[in-house]
Amino acid sequence: MDRREFLKESLIAIGGMAVASSGLLSACVGKGNKKIEELIAEAPAAFFDDLPPIGKLGFGLMRLPRLEDRSIDIEQTKQMVDLFMQAGFNYFDTAWAYGGSEDATRQALVERYPRDKFILATKLAAWVKCENREQAIAQFETSLERTGAGYFDFYLLHNLGGNRTHFFDDYDLWTWAFEQKAAGKIKHVGFSAHATPEELEEILVKHPEAEFVQLQINYADWEDPTVKARECYEIARRHGKPVIVMEPIKGGMLANPPQPVKEVFDNAAPDESYASWALRYAASPEGIMTVLSGMSNVEQMEDNIHTMKDFDKLTDEQAKVIDDACKALASIPTVPCTNCNYCAKVCPMNVGISGSFNALNFYTMYGDMTEALDQEDFYVKGKGFNFASACIKCGKCEEVCPQHINIREQLDRVVEVLGKK
Ligand code: SF4
Ligand code: SF4
Repeated sequence: MDRREFLKESLIAIGGMAVASSGLLSACVGKGNKKIEELIAEAPAAFFDDLPPIGKLGFGLMRLPRLEDRSIDIEQTKQMVDLFMQAGFNYFDTAWAYGGSEDATRQALVERYPRDKFILATKLAAWVKCENREQAIAQFETSLERTGAGYFDFYLLHNLGGNRTHFFDDYDLWTWAFEQKAAGKIKHVGFSAHATPEELEEILVKHPEAEFVQLQINYADWEDPTVKARECYEIARRHGKPVIVMEPIKGGMLANPPQPVKEVFDNAAPDESYASWALRYAASPEGIMTVLSGMSNVEQMEDNIHTMKDFDKLTDEQAKVIDDACKALASIPTVPCTNCNYCAKVCPMNVGISGSFNALNFYTMYGDMTEALDQEDFYVKGKGFNFASACIKCGKCEEVCPQHINIREQLDRVVEVLGKK
């Protein structure tokens, strides 16, 4: 793999983070002073008696392999699906908003495996260009058509939190989703959230009918003061919800962490991939239903299967290694962008926000200005976006950013550090 390929395939998102510290769960206490373990025993398993056991590794279909023309590499996706299924895993996670993903899911999975052999989740993003209820519901019909799946095992109201949550209430989509459940088109209804703990609590109080919650959990964000992954996890568990993990590798960043972090892991287990530490960390807390990994090639699939096939929770000693890795991360001041590109959907100036941050982060991590500028050209101009200097400071991007990044300020840094273009 040459450097360009390395940058394209591996350095998907070098998120920076102010990680304070980390640690595995130990003292979560739930409603009525019950320990979290008791709540786990009471609640989640019964929800999904109608489904086959769910594998601990889920195939996130957001970052599928791409061909030179940027279309999804269906043949490689098929190989990945086959490896995943052969290893005994069965959970697939796509979304209406993941460009081309639902169509690829049909071709690589639905048309090739019996419907009862896999579990399929997709999502409705009512905050993306929906002016009314009908437009939001139309996403569901589109998802059915694109995937050809007939029904969805899990259907998620996509990315609640911030000013996105109200769309689902305004359009009464919770009621609608459970009507679809009654009609057999959806088996289980839940939601994904990039929300503050307070917002998450509010959603769960208002909607106790939610059957599961999908949250961003990884070792870098566990105690992060912005993401607050631990707090969100504990709230979901207090409400008795099974948790699906998203972004366990933080948009790819933890598969190729900065050198100080690599050194920590290399000293502890030189033969294990960096991604394997992140996956096992995310899967270790109680009540985790599955961990979604957004795999982009066969190599990543093989590595993840190797890690999760005979999954064991982290030992105390291994948790200590991750604590040390978090401390190493805390000292690197990078932008915590995960390349979700929700911001790109709302920016009136078509600014290449995530690409600009990738380039800035690359420079922060590796100090290589030539390569950072090359990155900026590739990810911004090369993908049809405008450079950071085109920003008119309207702030729309910040309203939808799940990582709560001060995008306007960071774009100023991009211009300052990498130069105005
Ligand atoms: S603040 Fe700048 S980057 Fe953000 S949406 Fe407005 S123009 Fe785009
Ligand atoms: S919405 Fe936030 S995290 Fe997502 S790509 Fe934009 S800046 Fe990055």
